[in-house]
Amino acid sequence: MQILDGKSCSEQIRQEIADQVSQLKSEGRRPPHLAAILVGNDGASETYVANKVKDCQQVGFESSLIRFDNSVSEEELLTKIAELNADEAVDGFIVQLPLPGHIDEHKVTVSIDPRKDVDGFCPENVGNLCLGLPTFVSATPNGIMELLARYDIETEGKHCVVLGRSNIVGTPMAILMSRNSKPGNSTVTLAHSRTANLKALCAEADILVAAIGKPEFVSADMVKPGAVVIDVGITRLADESRTSGFRLVGDVQFDSVAEKAAWITPVPGGVGPMTRASLLQNTLKAYLRN
Ligand code: NAP
Repeated sequence: MQILDGKSCSEQIRQEIADQVSQLKSEGRRPPHLAAILVGNDGASETYVANKVKDCQQVGFESSLIRFDNSVSEEELLTKIAELNADEAVDGFIVQLPLPGHIDEHKVTVSIDPRKDVDGFCPENVGNLCLGLPTFVSATPNGIMELLARYDIETEGKHCVVLGRSNIVGTPMAILMSRNSKPGNSTVTLAHSRTANLKALCAEADILVAAIGKPEFVSADMVKPGAVVIDVGITRLADESRTSGFRLVGDVQFDSVAEKAAWITPVPGGVGPMTRASLLQNTLKAYLRN
């Protein structure tokens, strides 16, 4: 088994971006600018957004964090989005999800200018993805494709099973793997909670992408010998032996599956850091397009 090391791969990508940004600055141009809107005080969202701001600083991007209380009205939020859409100094922005229940997430997503939608969630960008047109691809599937590319993993003609059909991970992942591209050209099965014979299906996969959010769901008997296993899942499990009080667990039983797989992503240190690097790549792309 060999590790698909998302941590070191993402560090390489960050370095490449940082070099490009210093080149831009040395030419007298302003750096790319990513803005993030955070509503409320959800612990996980706070961490994700803080990491995004830190990532921007590390590669030399400008960043802005716009915070609202949980009580913010939908109208106020949409007004801020309209301002960011019009602000020429902002290349891309994200609205951290989930949002409080009184705000319609779909309404928020569709109000973001597709040219600044670096999360790749708005319908125009998802449509472009389906058509194989230039677009912003959602950060997690984009990061996985980058990881497969950088490790030169053969995907053509392979059977790829994607577990989970969410709009931000499973579905775009299935589209990307089935596209006529490299990586890509796989024959894809998109599985979900209603899929019959899931174990047997997974055991036929040359490439298995687990994105369901069920800790250690994928056991060794669900994995074909020599498979490539991508573990997207991240669940915090209580662990009093850690100072943080928790440990991160993926959707895959790492130790036993690693014995059978040819390649596997660890959790943490696999897909997570690639997702973070992908957002930076999308922001740079938005900047260069503008
Ligand atoms: P989600 O929106 O909750 O979707 C989960 C998907 O898994 C659904 O399609 C669901 O099927 C399917 N599913 C649930 N239980 C299943 C089962 N027992 N068998 C087969 N399919 C099942 O989740 P998500 O946003 O895609 O995230 C998935 C996981 O990835 C989470 O742990 C999340 O934290 C993690 N994640 C990690 C990163 C990263 O950077 N590493 C980024 C994003 C997400 P139905 O559609 O039938 O309900």
